[in-house]
Amino acid sequence: MAYAYDTSNIFARILRGEIPNSTVLETEHSLAFRDIAPQAPDHVLVIPKGPYVTYDHFCAAASDAEIVDFARAVARVCAALGVEENGYRAITNAGTHGVQEVPHFHMHIVAGRPMGRMLEQS
Ligand code: 5GP
Repeated sequence: MAYAYDTSNIFARILRGEIPNSTVLETEHSLAFRDIAPQAPDHVLVIPKGPYVTYDHFCAAASDAEIVDFARAVARVCAALGVEENGYRAITNAGTHGVQEVPHFHMHIVAGRPMGRMLEQS
């Protein structure tokens, strides 16, 4: 699948330093920051710095170094949030049916309360 990356999306602007963010972790290839509209006591977005639209795009097109860096960043964010005891939910939305708002691949790490069922009927 060929994804077209929109360089004007809000996370691209955060990466360019045009918009402030509440950084939790920054690595060579990844950035983690708090969601502006948290859905739980802890709600962190982990993003690659590269121009990937969705998770499958990232998994298909990113370098091994970027993928390892991202996975380790997720682990470090989980450790920083202290989720080992009570758990968390990792979510990544893609495209129209996934109801993706920002077209730069991101993983939501939400924690700090029970999350309820995985999907609601709509
Ligand atoms: P999506 O629906 O694309 O999976 O999630 C996008 C997320 O980005 C939402 O949870 C939304 O609150 C968050 N978001 C949108 N704009 C900003 C922003 O400017 N800064 C931060 N930190 N989060 C944002």
